[in-house]
Amino acid sequence: MILPITAYGDPVLRKVGTDITKDYPKLETLVENMWETMYNASGVGLAAPQIGLPIRLFVIDTTPFSEDEDLAPEDQKALNGFKKVFVNAKIEEETGEEWTFNEGCLSIPDIREDVNRKETIKITYLDENFNEKSETYGGLLARVIQHEYDHIEGILFTDKLSSLKKRLIKGKLSNISKGKINADYRMRFPDMKKGR
Ligand SMILES: [Zn+2]
Repeated sequence: MILPITAYGDPVLRKVGTDITKDYPKLETLVENMWETMYNASGVGLAAPQIGLPIRLFVIDTTPFSEDEDLAPEDQKALNGFKKVFVNAKIEEETGEEWTFNEGCLSIPDIREDVNRKETIKITYLDENFNEKSETYGGLLARVIQHEYDHIEGILFTDKLSSLKKRLIKGKLSNISKGKINADYRMRFPDMKKGR
């Protein structure tokens, strides 16, 4: 089932997510619905707060990025078919040089900005079967994980922009909260006026 994606301004996007347990109600269905919602919106990642749940859960499939011909073949290979569920994730370490990538977010349609992040991350998490994992990622894979991880910490990519950039996009962000935006997927807007 495709779920509506919560738009910028919704308080749920600002909550630090809570850990979940194996008996979280209908977890399997929830994850299925998150995949469906993400693919329908042509996203490469989706975090639970973006469908209204302040829990530490996000899904990632970077396959669409693997088709970028500017990438080195080994990077394309790493991104192709990288499809994972992250439960109760914790980034243990971020290392390396900061680099810039033009990010977007399904909760913030029509805004894309350059964001600086560190190159390499070490992350521990549980997979969808609650097996413990500890892994290290770099480059674009790390980037997508960092973006989704921020969601379960209540952080959005627009928080990381310079104060000038923030001022420049303020009006646009407020329009998104009010639903004055054309996204080609279902959304839920916090400040939308109820019918008249
Ligand atoms: Zn996002």
